[in-house]
Amino acid sequence: MTGNSIKAGTKAVWAGEKEYLAHGATQVPVVLSVAYGYDDMDEWYDVAIGKKKGHIYGRNTNPTVQAFEDKVKIMEEAEAATSFSTGMAAISNTLATFLLPGDRIVSIKDTYGGTNKIFTEFLPRQQIEVALCETGNHEAIEEEVAKGCKILYLETPTNPTVKITDIERMAKAGHEAGALVIVDNTFGTPINQNPLLLGADLVIHSATKFLGGHADALGGVVCGAEELVEKIYHYREINGATMDPMAAYLTLRGMKTLHLRVRQQGKNAMALAKYLQTKELVEAVYYPGLETHSNHDIAKKQMKDFGGMLSFAVKGGVDTVRDLLPKLEYANRAANLGAVETTVGPARTTSHVECTPEERAAMGIPEGLIRVSCGIEDIEDILADFEQAFNHINSALEV
Ligand SMILES: *Cc1c(COP(=O)(O)O)cnc(C)c1O
Repeated sequence: MTGNSIKAGTKAVWAGEKEYLAHGATQVPVVLSVAYGYDDMDEWYDVAIGKKKGHIYGRNTNPTVQAFEDKVKIMEEAEAATSFSTGMAAISNTLATFLLPGDRIVSIKDTYGGTNKIFTEFLPRQQIEVALCETGNHEAIEEEVAKGCKILYLETPTNPTVKITDIERMAKAGHEAGALVIVDNTFGTPINQNPLLLGADLVIHSATKFLGGHADALGGVVCGAEELVEKIYHYREINGATMDPMAAYLTLRGMKTLHLRVRQQGKNAMALAKYLQTKELVEAVYYPGLETHSNHDIAKKQMKDFGGMLSFAVKGGVDTVRDLLPKLEYANRAANLGAVETTVGPARTTSHVECTPEERAAMGIPEGLIRVSCGIEDIEDILADFEQAFNHINSALEV
């Protein structure tokens, strides 16, 4: 099941599974076995050296994990995919596969907090030069890339202020400089955005978020050309950040409803963003689907829909956040995102907890910024819930 003719929803349900079914079961089994036995010494050797298909040891490959990789691969229209224990493992292993001391990487200031820490803490101490540009400033990125770099690393939309970068334009700039172009597509999801089709070389997901969708399994995945993914797989099989088979199964199961969830999350996010724009207490609303968004046109061009993530800044900063969020009945106050439940949290406690207040301010993340990952609930109930929470705050202010 490959190519453009099959729609994303059908792929989400069917892709990548058939090869892994057993005993006539219609569902992919969870294979927990650590090792695979062979009576034929020659066959064992052939599988071990990769001459014959099969499995040897769970750190390298596992059938359940491979079914998950195949589904992502097909949904992103990639040649190959390999998976990881977490999204951060996918990012760090991918970077470590290609970067050597003396190399240079160009990225943006607004990457996920953990990714930003790799750029500011871990890469520099390996003598890898990191240039972080203003997110959304395409000219600045092009200028840095033209100076030469091994990797151009992007994330769009970004966490938590959902800034947008033009993938097609940046891929061109990256390739002109001979760089590998990597895109973290966690917020985009394979339903709304396919960076490989826009010219990127590698796409990364934190599978923990939208792919799994139920906040019950950690995972990460990277996909792209076979030749690149092969190298990343080799780094991972030796260094060991392997995805757990049970996590792979839960994510695979979650992915079957990815298109339905993402569609509903997008609808809810648009409605909530418009509602928040009308509230006195709200200073700013960030959502790529709003015409007020600085790069709304680029989002419209490269995304099928605008996704389930938005953020908003409240008047009164942290104090208002502290009062408002506990009043919400239908929202988890938690660090994850992309789940079926609406999830809220201040950026300073969630995406950018690793950063100091000064670092957050430099990134344009106010302390009163609330990130919302819209769930799949009926939007009327979510809007009513926010309304009663705002009313509590307003009446408290009037007293
Ligand atoms: C959560 C997240 C990650 C890290 O994924 P983990 O599975 O938590 O390691 C990377 N990028 C983005 C955009 C994320 O939201």
